[in-house]
Amino acid sequence: MARIGFDHLAHAYPGGGYALKPMDMVWEDGGAYALLGPSGCGKTTLLNIISGLLRPSEGRVLFDGTDVTALPTERRNVAQVFQFPVVYDTMTVRENLAFPLRNRGVPAAAARARAEHVAGLLGLTRDLDRRARNLGADEKQKISLGRGLVRDDVAAILFDEPLTVIDPHLKWELRSRLKELHRQVPVTMIYVTHDQTEALTFADRVAVMSAGEVVQVGTPEALFERPAHTFVGHFIGSPGMNLLPCTVEGREAVLAGGGRIALPHAYPALPGKVELGIRPDFATLARDGLPVTVQRVDDLGRRRIARLLLDGRPFAATLPEGMPVPAEPRLALDPARLHIYADGRLARGEA
Ligand code: ATP
Repeated sequence: MARIGFDHLAHAYPGGGYALKPMDMVWEDGGAYALLGPSGCGKTTLLNIISGLLRPSEGRVLFDGTDVTALPTERRNVAQVFQFPVVYDTMTVRENLAFPLRNRGVPAAAARARAEHVAGLLGLTRDLDRRARNLGADEKQKISLGRGLVRDDVAAILFDEPLTVIDPHLKWELRSRLKELHRQVPVTMIYVTHDQTEALTFADRVAVMSAGEVVQVGTPEALFERPAHTFVGHFIGSPGMNLLPCTVEGREAVLAGGGRIALPHAYPALPGKVELGIRPDFATLARDGLPVTVQRVDDLGRRRIARLLLDGRPFAATLPEGMPVPAEPRLALDPARLHIYADGRLARGEA
């Protein structure tokens, strides 16, 4: 297991700009990290640099303080699971799972016991004696996951969108089984995905990437409660955080949406124009507040989201249970849940 450090790390592919902008960061030993972001943001580039498949154009990667930047993958002691199955077709499931252990000289009985344990966690026990070639795509990918998870002496296990080929019904189950496995063997895990549900259920720390930059690393709760960047607020959550351009008035209020909004505390040094961010969960239709137009109401089962126009801009709010759409709808914002963003970054107020 290892603590993974990024020291002025950056990468530009030949002839291109930064695919990964300079970063300095440490990821804790034994953490379950998800690397989350839209297509093209640089997730694979960062993962390949960690695994050693790609040599960064600048900076260093450290495993437990040791510089591994120049080491090839096979000398980094990492396990990898890819999007598509990597299995030996002619071997049985048991032999496939035991292979990474046998390959490193683990005695047959111990390898067998560990393979059976991992098979149990992945729901493969009944298939242990079947040959991989006779199994379907889901089972083959479970074998790949198992081969990645079977060793407990690796520096890290790297997953690159490992559930892409898995049937949607099975995804939930496998995600929670992976989480369970991480609890039992707390190896550093890094899991690349563009799917926020996958990232938030698997990880205890999510690194959100946008345009070549890791913009925030935080617990799922922190990403929800205190997005450090407007991108994170908007990208995480369904629907994402509302962002409202506004004009600063003094240190404790902004003008937005045709009204004055008091801030929860004073902000000492804001530029004139900022964005106010609030999640739809903390914005509701009420008797008093900013005037809005209701465009439609989305009934999501456990909650209803009112799609509004506030000063001509789309805005999402919660319609309280049992409340009909008011004849003169007003928008109320929970002041404790307001955030102010200056140039896209969370602004700090006075406590
Ligand atoms: P996806 O989810 O689509 O795989 P990603 O977040 O993993 O995307 P990367 O594949 O790391 O993103 O790509 C980051 C940027 O680097 C993109 O702009 C991409 O076009 C560029 N890029 C990736 N690989 C190369 C390469 N071999 N040569 C040049 N540019 C590349």
